Amino acid sequence: MTSSPKPSTFTNQKWILTKRPKDEFDPDRDVELKTEELNSKSCLDGEKDEQDLVLVKVEVLSVDAFIRTMMDATAYHGSLDLQNTLPALGYGTVVMSKSKKFRVGQPVLGMLGAQTYARIPAKQLKRKFDLPLLPTSASLGLLSLTTGLTAYAGIFFVPSKGPRKGDTVVVTASAGAVGSIAAQLAKTTGAKVVGIAGNKNDYLLNELKLDGAVNYKDKSISLEDQLDEACPNGVDFVFDNVGGDTLDALLERIRPGGRIVICGAVSQYDSGSVNKVDGQTVQGPSNYLNLAERGAEMRGFNVMQHMHKMPIAMFFLFWYYVRGKVRMTEHIHNGIESFPKALKSLFDGGNTGKTLVKVKNV
Ligand code: NAP
Repeated sequence: MTSSPKPSTFTNQKWILTKRPKDEFDPDRDVELKTEELNSKSCLDGEKDEQDLVLVKVEVLSVDAFIRTMMDATAYHGSLDLQNTLPALGYGTVVMSKSKKFRVGQPVLGMLGAQTYARIPAKQLKRKFDLPLLPTSASLGLLSLTTGLTAYAGIFFVPSKGPRKGDTVVVTASAGAVGSIAAQLAKTTGAKVVGIAGNKNDYLLNELKLDGAVNYKDKSISLEDQLDEACPNGVDFVFDNVGGDTLDALLERIRPGGRIVICGAVSQYDSGSVNKVDGQTVQGPSNYLNLAERGAEMRGFNVMQHMHKMPIAMFFLFWYYVRGKVRMTEHIHNGIESFPKALKSLFDGGNTGKTLVKVKNV
């Protein structure tokens, strides 16, 4: 075993789930920041099946919408038990290792959890490689499985026919992490791209350079009227992150031969609807028969189903980035203390682009 001689204890601060969210997640009520001392002599002494434990000093955490869905008692991504650490992808540096695969000082990436030190089996970690010209945080954004690679798969791998010149494309939650990349990728095809977000038209039009923006939070004009203005001839391609009423409005406007890709349904997450909390149900699309009438398709995906094509996605994301066609906006929160509020910001209009937490270890 290799180990650093100092310090003899590591102070881990971790966010644990103490209550199932009632209606919406409340960062002040449902989670607690717990401190534990990890003894450098014994903290990697695991059970029989834990012979390859590694201690990682966490540096940056990715804040993703799926974390909220795992807080409910039954969850379609798998439920987190009470008193357990909130899940989160992240990267950091190995500070102790019982594994032959990882040595002290190596940068690693994995499901580290919302904490400052992760004690984790080596098989759940990957070496972190940085590509030249990209920020080191790209491994959690542009090139992350749950962000850039998800966007790429949804635009190019999932539909029977991707967006093309002459198409009108609509991307929902288009100012968020997945949506902002998906919208920019759609633009690379020459299609007209309209983004939907809450009070973020300026970002969509001036930063992402989309062709149109719809503000679903605008009280003075309905989503439907805004869509009719932005897409007067209907919609050929939808990348949907939101579900609910927005998906229904888009189904109403789908054109013959249209393609709808279901990436997620974030409007159903924070209410617990997606996990049927307290007998709730997911608000499904009532306009689905337009698919039959117009010979359109609606296809969902989980990014894991496209793993074999990820090298292609990584290559093109890198290529578009260096050519200035795709940018990744980062919304950085500082300190492990900020994690729950950063998570909440995904549901209350407080995030733009990829939400990250920079961990400062004590
Ligand atoms: P994100 O987009 O960075 O943050 C969530 C966004 O959702 C926010 O920017 C917010 O935008 C929007 N939003 C929140 N509540 C909403 C509501 N009630 N109605 C409309 N918009 C709402 O989060 P992310 O982690 O990148 O996830 C985006 C989507 O991708 C999610 O649906 C997630 O499940 C999905 N996803 C799918 C896969 C897959 O394999 N299929 C993998 C990763 C992620 P506003 O401020 O504009 O409201």
